[in-house]
Amino acid sequence: MPRLSTTLVVALFATACTSSGLDSRRPTVQVADPPTPYVPAETQPEVEQTPDDPIPDPPETEDPPADPPQDPVEEEAVDPPAPPPPPPPPPPPPPPPASTDACYPGSSMTWTTCLPTVTATGLGSTYAYPAPLNGSAQYAEPTRYLDLQAVSGSTMLAPNFRLDEIAQEYKGRYAVVQPHAVDRLQDLRDELGPLVVNSGYRPPGYNASIGGATYSRHMYGDAFDIDPVNVSLTTLQSACYSHGAGYVGVYTTHMHCDWRDDTVSIEFFGTPNGTFTFQPPPFDAVVRFDSFGVELEAPAEGWDEGEPLREWTAYDADGYAIDSFVGEKYEPPADAASVEVWIGREIVRTVVF
Ligand SMILES: [Zn+2]
Repeated sequence: MPRLSTTLVVALFATACTSSGLDSRRPTVQVADPPTPYVPAETQPEVEQTPDDPIPDPPETEDPPADPPQDPVEEEAVDPPAPPPPPPPPPPPPPPPASTDACYPGSSMTWTTCLPTVTATGLGSTYAYPAPLNGSAQYAEPTRYLDLQAVSGSTMLAPNFRLDEIAQEYKGRYAVVQPHAVDRLQDLRDELGPLVVNSGYRPPGYNASIGGATYSRHMYGDAFDIDPVNVSLTTLQSACYSHGAGYVGVYTTHMHCDWRDDTVSIEFFGTPNGTFTFQPPPFDAVVRFDSFGVELEAPAEGWDEGEPLREWTAYDADGYAIDSFVGEKYEPPADAASVEVWIGREIVRTVVF
């Protein structure tokens, strides 16, 4: 019955509105009429209660009191934990994606020549590093190495230096070659022309077998023994220092340059752990006549790669240089009043007659 009457009403209104041009009135009238008569009064209250259930409950203020008694037990454990909710969110994500590649200047100096490094444990005496010298981070044991069997020795680490010029497998399968030292070596080459690297990386076992120093920087991959081809030792020495070398050793057979006081490469040593302290070699020397009483000699300590260069100069009584000589022993002229000798260009000793 109501629907029939509504249809009739709609028809009448539709006709009226269309004729009057007031289309907007049609929906208003249609919707309002049907719902009111058709929906029972009980239905609406039920619909309202469902969404409002949460609200009605709170009004029942009597329940809360009932809850507290139950909560006390939980509250003692849960309320304090109220702070705990924060802890769960801040779980520390400890995966620092440290690169395991060591990247070098390469043939084009773009630092895109990257070689994988590997962890290596249980390598035996060949890689038995001594405890860090005075706890110094520069003397920490390497944590990773280049695997010389997994990379090509012909890899150009810099425009003028191949990997196998700096590290050789016959000394040990694994090697440490610090990128910043290779960069310095190339700097020297750019300035001085051709250089021959007589020795680069040495595993501890190999280093010991040739009488190397206990803490030779060759074991840490930032030292090179260099023979200059077109320049003098003096020029090479100056260049090493001007390019940041921490120590330059001048020997009769070669020049040793290392960058011992630079931060060690994280790719090989991990995050630096320990203090950074410069460790100068314990140089010392005395000047004396040899057992024949004719030639002077200057036995020295602190040079662990051979005999340091000895440069002698004789002076007369007025202080003028009257003679000079480079060699292990020196016979001064008869009129010499004093003789000075530089040892390894590190220390000087003088003897007065
Ligand atoms: Zn050396």
